[in-house]
Amino acid sequence: MPFDRVVVTAFDEDLNEVTDVLVDGLSLEQETIGISYPLPESKIQQNVILNQQTLVANNSVYQELAARSVAEVQRYNIGSRSLLMTPLVWQGRTVGTLNLRSKDPQAYGEHQRELAEQIAAQIAGAIATSKQYALLKKESVERERLSKQNDTIAEIGRIVSSTFRLQDVYSQFAEKARKLIPFDRIVIATLNPDCTIATDVLVEGEGTKNTVGKQFPVPGNVRELALRNHDPLILNEPDYSKEILPKYPLERDQMSAGLRSVMIVPLVSRGVVVGTIHFRSRENSPYNQETASVAAQIGSQIAGAVAASEQFESLRRSEKLLRTQVTVFETSADSINILRPDGSIESVNDAYLKETGYTREEALNQGPGFLRPPGQDAEYEEAWDTLSSGRSWFGVLKSVRKNGEIYPVEHSVTPVFDDDGEIVRFVGIRRDVSDRLQAEEDRAARMRLDVENRELAEIARQREEFFTSVSHELRTPLTAIMSFADILSRDRQGTLTGLQLEHLDVIKRNSRSLNELVEDMLDFSRLGTDRLKLDRSDVEVHALVESVVESMEPTIRAKSQQVEVVSAPVPVWINADSGRITQVISNLMANSSKYSESGSNIRVELELINDYAHIKVVDQGVGISETEQEEIFTPFFRSKREDVQIQPGTGLGLAISKTLIELHDGQIQVSSIENEGSTFAVILPVTSHK
Ligand code: ADP
Repeated sequence: MPFDRVVVTAFDEDLNEVTDVLVDGLSLEQETIGISYPLPESKIQQNVILNQQTLVANNSVYQELAARSVAEVQRYNIGSRSLLMTPLVWQGRTVGTLNLRSKDPQAYGEHQRELAEQIAAQIAGAIATSKQYALLKKESVERERLSKQNDTIAEIGRIVSSTFRLQDVYSQFAEKARKLIPFDRIVIATLNPDCTIATDVLVEGEGTKNTVGKQFPVPGNVRELALRNHDPLILNEPDYSKEILPKYPLERDQMSAGLRSVMIVPLVSRGVVVGTIHFRSRENSPYNQETASVAAQIGSQIAGAVAASEQFESLRRSEKLLRTQVTVFETSADSINILRPDGSIESVNDAYLKETGYTREEALNQGPGFLRPPGQDAEYEEAWDTLSSGRSWFGVLKSVRKNGEIYPVEHSVTPVFDDDGEIVRFVGIRRDVSDRLQAEEDRAARMRLDVENRELAEIARQREEFFTSVSHELRTPLTAIMSFADILSRDRQGTLTGLQLEHLDVIKRNSRSLNELVEDMLDFSRLGTDRLKLDRSDVEVHALVESVVESMEPTIRAKSQQVEVVSAPVPVWINADSGRITQVISNLMANSSKYSESGSNIRVELELINDYAHIKVVDQGVGISETEQEEIFTPFFRSKREDVQIQPGTGLGLAISKTLIELHDGQIQVSSIENEGSTFAVILPVTSHK
């Protein structure tokens, strides 16, 4: 019987398990004697055992078969080119197989099959009865394997606890782990405290590129499945292809690198997951309960070291720093937005949302023109040019809120670069400056007004100076004219004729009115300056009115008019400049007399209403039209009426009176019906003491 490798296996029906009990000839790298494996793992053997049919595979048939079976590839690689596998049948039941392999690609024909089946019939009984032995053998092999395994695990423990710089011993670790668990690629990653970001710290073996130092979000990564409980997670074929690939697109890279199964081991230190180990294999189902339990032991050996490692610590530290930065970002009173290199919005803080009126959903991923009002393209482009050339940009640009309001925003935008000097982000700080600009404008306006006021005050001062000097110049000769006219009109010698005396009266009247004019001009020139000062004292209004009436008596008598005074039932006290109030009442009475017919009545009424003294001068004169009533208090205003125009006057009296009364915190009012009469009322606050 030709063969280069012979294996006799025992099949345990109860366990559905096959154990190699005799191995001879060409040897594999890792020999299989004593090793048991589930029957379904070997398709070739399954058919032989279950159907009790001998398999003969030569040449191309064998090559094809070898290509389909991972186990057979290993045998092909050591030179096997043909296979004869026949069942060992004892009392109708399959108790094992006889497997013959030869380097000769045409070793087995019909004759060899018959021969093999005869041999099989011979040894089947022996195998059946030696099962006990196989079990014992298996146990001792297992014991040895376990003790080796424990040694290796302990060694891993020693390696990782020998240093705080875990990165120095990762490779050593991977080498040891390979003795215990089959893998073609191993990755260790650390996790941030809330297990949302994984950072690769060891990447070894085939498959996708080296990702040491790279960070991956945990959600959407297959490791999230292993973090739900703290046990190793096994994803073998066909589940891996069917369930995992569609849900985790990142896994496709692994699949296309030929890695078809993965076992993920959470690293748990003091009840906290601090990282994961990924074992990946090209085999379809290399991971099982046993590899998982070994992996869990390895995991517990290194979890503590990972948690204590410098790298992990610094990760936590930078995490903390990041948290602080995030808090600053979130709570900043200034709006902050982070833009991608194309100007689209990656993130914004709450202040930004408050400022713009948009929700976060609406704002995120918007392009660079998001808040640009129409007609601002040139300004925005200029800023953008500066930024894309890698420089910071500061300035004020108009923005538009969600509600359409356009407002000025002070921007400070800075590019952020990666290690290669590429722009990766722009960080923009925005501040709504409408209030500030408004305040600046107001201040400018106030300053302009101040200047104007100062100029006006200066003009008023110059005017007053002019009037004062002019009126002094006028008064001196006027006083001389009036006194000499007085002296003359006394006519001590009795030499003046009646006509001459009449002329003297004209001189006296005119010089008096000229004097009044000078007085009015002087007062008027003081309006708007601080020269119009009040000399206040407590004044009883009845007494004041009586004295005014008395002094006005000659004027009124000259027009045969009568004055009636209506008093209040109690004394009425005001705190006032009695000279100025006298001037006002005199002016009103003079007007009433001037603008009324001869022989008419003038009434002066005094009333106390709600702590205000009301002094009214009522006449039966020409009256004032409604439109003119609005103007009579403006300087130099005089009625267009002819009967008013012929009367002497400057149009200053009421303007001065109004200012004087207002300086007393009072009011002056007029009510009048044309051609029937006018009433002027002066209203002044009374003093508390009566
Ligand atoms: P003047 O009497 O010197 O013209 P006023 O300032 O005292 O200046 O008065 C302004 C104008 O108001 C008068 O020209 C006149 O048209 C009108 N006016 C004032 N008092 C009366 C009044 N009692 N009756 C009619 N019109 C009056």
